[in-house]
Amino acid sequence: MEAQERLNIRNLSVKCGNCDTYQTLSGFAQAGESNVYSYECENDICDPAVTKTLIEVPRELDAFADRDPEWRGGGRHGDDLSGAADGD
Ligand SMILES: [Zn+2]
Repeated sequence: MEAQERLNIRNLSVKCGNCDTYQTLSGFAQAGESNVYSYECENDICDPAVTKTLIEVPRELDAFADRDPEWRGGGRHGDDLSGAADGD
């Protein structure tokens, strides 16, 4: 469907080099032309303030935020019920 290549950060895995565990998407912000996603470790090994990862995605390539402009991090996601079949 999409003609141009876009990036959906849900397709990325962010792993911490310190604790060797996948980090969890914990925040979203807009900065200039980019969307900035922050990932944090969810364990007792790392201090998120130290190991936090920020991933910047150019807004025009960001398929994820495009689909969910209201998304603020950690919220519900993507209930796409197309082809609604109404009973009765
Ligand atoms: Zn870590």
